[in-house]
Amino acid sequence: MLTGIHFLLTYRCTYECDHCFVYSSPRAEGTFTLKQVSQVLDEARKIGTIKSIYYEGGEPFLLYPVLIEAVRLARQAGFQVGIVTNGHFATSEEDAALWLKPLAEIGIADLSISDDGFHSDAVESPAKRAIRAARELHLPVDSICIDAPTVESKSAREKGEPIVGGGVRFRGRAVEKLTQGLPRIHWQEFTECPHEDLSDPGRVHMDAYGNVQLCQGLCMGDAWQTPLSTLVKNYDVASHPIAGLLASGGPALLVKEFNLAHEDSYVDACHLCYSARKALMNRFPEFLAPKQVYGI
Ligand code: SF4
Repeated sequence: MLTGIHFLLTYRCTYECDHCFVYSSPRAEGTFTLKQVSQVLDEARKIGTIKSIYYEGGEPFLLYPVLIEAVRLARQAGFQVGIVTNGHFATSEEDAALWLKPLAEIGIADLSISDDGFHSDAVESPAKRAIRAARELHLPVDSICIDAPTVESKSAREKGEPIVGGGVRFRGRAVEKLTQGLPRIHWQEFTECPHEDLSDPGRVHMDAYGNVQLCQGLCMGDAWQTPLSTLVKNYDVASHPIAGLLASGGPALLVKEFNLAHEDSYVDACHLCYSARKALMNRFPEFLAPKQVYGI
């Protein structure tokens, strides 16, 4: 059951991380207006099962006044609110408190702050300052830490091949930047999607272009063409040309059905899935979008 809408409030970010699966950067386009946010919140209410709204990106604090108002609107509509940020604004703990205080006053359910070597390798990072300031304000704060890919021992996997650890999902820029030299598995082994319930999604990500994404770059449809509540009501994985195949046979089935050119092996299922979807992007522009999350 769909219970969460995650706004990619902007694709723009202060950083340009190697592991970013939506290709965010300081130059990325695609930013919501407050009017669009309000429109989506109205639709979210109509769906009837939505409990939580997340604001993420990109870096949502780049739109600070819009973010604060968007949080207020979501709370007024009765939703729980979460935010994902890199904490870049925390030049000092005291100043971070100024940024975060309005959120403590409105009341949010989760503040997730990316705090890892991809975002900053400083011992005293902005993220750490933001986390301390949030704790002082009694905000429900958590840190997200994704490590650089590591090769884990054989015993972790039934068949005994080494696997890749560290938490990176090999989609988007991570494919371009982080797959080199990592152990790989034969493509035919990727017969399921390991991370998303495509038949019955629990949450979708929505961007300012209207793309309602089941996974980054894999869309249910365009909410600026068809209202979000209608898209959700009519969604049937079996009739989705890409998600249907992924749900029944994983990325390997996608490759087989469309007879796609492929390598012998891939780092993980997402690596194969992302590569296959990128090859199909121009054939299914409504379902594989936006192009910028495929690095184009
Ligand atoms: S296999 Fe594909 S659809 Fe599933 S989580 Fe990975 S990239 Fe997303």
